[in-house]
Amino acid sequence: MSGTARILVVEDDPAVAELVSLYLRNAGYTVTHASTAAGARSLLAEARPALVVLDLGLPDMDGRALFAEIRKRSDTPVLALTARAEEKVEGLEAGMDDYVTKPFDPRELVARCRAVLRRSTGLPGGGRVLQVGDVRMDPARHQVFVAERAVQLRAKEFELLEAFMRQPGIVLSRDKLLEQVWGFAFPGETRTVDVHVKQLRDKLDPTTARIETVWGVGYKLVGPEEHA
Ligand code: CA
Repeated sequence: MSGTARILVVEDDPAVAELVSLYLRNAGYTVTHASTAAGARSLLAEARPALVVLDLGLPDMDGRALFAEIRKRSDTPVLALTARAEEKVEGLEAGMDDYVTKPFDPRELVARCRAVLRRSTGLPGGGRVLQVGDVRMDPARHQVFVAERAVQLRAKEFELLEAFMRQPGIVLSRDKLLEQVWGFAFPGETRTVDVHVKQLRDKLDPTTARIETVWGVGYKLVGPEEHA
């Protein structure tokens, strides 16, 4: 994955959103902003952020319900913002990655974001284990298992599978996969994606997680409960 990490800031208070975005941009992150849960939902699929900074008091939905929705679809780390300190334990118990209580020092928020990102993707041993059906991936150790059998993947096959496993059930276009895995938009080379998908299917067979072809669009990885 190339480029700077993208952070999605979900915050309805324009002053707070502006301040947070400014500090995160100055720290070198790419920032996308949504002021409602509905806006966040579409940006999550489109922008594929590395981290979500989530205000728990949103106008159209409880932030915790949105968090539960995010967690159902992906393992994207979430740092919560709230006005109420007592929500902290509850949030951490629900599986949020970190928590900042308003009012906060934006520099502290940036430091926390950096720490969460480092834990989730950066350092050896820091990546979370991903699981779809009986396929399990440990990104930090660069290992893939089907049931308990280790599967050897080449570098690009691994990155392609990682892109699918971080977004299970989401249709990914060939261009999007090229950009995410090969690091650039190269529309003429989409056959490269097809070839690698075929290799992945061969190597992962038999498994309960399938890479399904969505005709005219691309591919998606689905677990056993979602087979077409
Ligand atoms: Ca709010």
